[in-house]
Amino acid sequence: MVITTQFYTTRVSNIVEQTACIRTLFLEIPYSYPRFSPGQVIQVKLAEGEYHDLPPKSYCICSLMADNVIEICFDLVNIKGVSGALYHAHPQQKISISAPFDGLSFEPPKEKIINMVGFGSGIGLIRGFMREFYQLPANWSAALHFYAINRDETSIPYQFDLALAAERYPHLEIYPVMQTHEYDIDDISDRVSSHTLYPTKSQVYIVGPRQPVRELRRHCLNMSILPENIFQVAFD
Ligand SMILES: Cc1cc2nc3c(=O)[nH]c(=O)nc-3n(C[C@H](O)[C@H](O)[C@H](O)COP(=O)(O)OP(=O)(O)OC[C@H]3O[C@@H](n4cnc5c(N)ncnc54)[C@H](O)[C@@H]3O)c2cc1C
Repeated sequence: MVITTQFYTTRVSNIVEQTACIRTLFLEIPYSYPRFSPGQVIQVKLAEGEYHDLPPKSYCICSLMADNVIEICFDLVNIKGVSGALYHAHPQQKISISAPFDGLSFEPPKEKIINMVGFGSGIGLIRGFMREFYQLPANWSAALHFYAINRDETSIPYQFDLALAAERYPHLEIYPVMQTHEYDIDDISDRVSSHTLYPTKSQVYIVGPRQPVRELRRHCLNMSILPENIFQVAFD
């Protein structure tokens, strides 16, 4: 049996250059598109142009349904791949997307300390989770530590939005971290650990490329954070 994915055609409504290699695309919600939430995954391919026959790739939805737009944040990984084609996309360009599926969804927190760690373009989804967290007024008493980590570049994605969020939400702590070359997971782990007084009472969300996500998860387990309190999305 062949399972075919239904694709919807949409258009790029806006593009934000977050850093030299990381961009956010805002896509119009196609007619009769299902409801979605941050962390769900969509398959994306080009609907026209020289890259239209590349096989689709997965991207995480970063926006909330209420935003009335589908936001994806991506790294330029391969100039000849889908990320390269998206990098060169222009406003109004046609893009094909699948319905949203699976992925990681934000759970109303059980614990009082929440650590959210985004590596590179993973900061886009982590910010989506943070926005969902602050839609739950009862949870404002929990402390949210937000680590926005980028490497090899001169800026942090979403820096301006994060600074605004830090002013707006009294319990939100934002830590922009610039690293060079490889991600230094020992350093990130030390930072998370310093805000994790009671590891068994902490939750961690980690999003980004596979290698730093897996390594940080291992460090979190070594810090005695419970496996059921570690949530991750690794871009493979
Ligand atoms: C569930 C899921 C969710 C994903 N969500 C996102 C997302 O929100 N944003 C995003 O940028 N990517 C995401 N990806 C990765 C994305 O699907 C593509 O693999 C990526 O854009 C590269 O595709 P490409 O065709 O340009 O290059 P390819 O030639 O297919 O990729 C080249 C290599 O880059 C590796 N790679 C993929 N993503 C990264 C990355 N971010 N950093 C470093 N190496 C990488 C791949 O493992 C592959 O070996 C996700 C992947 C999965 C499985």
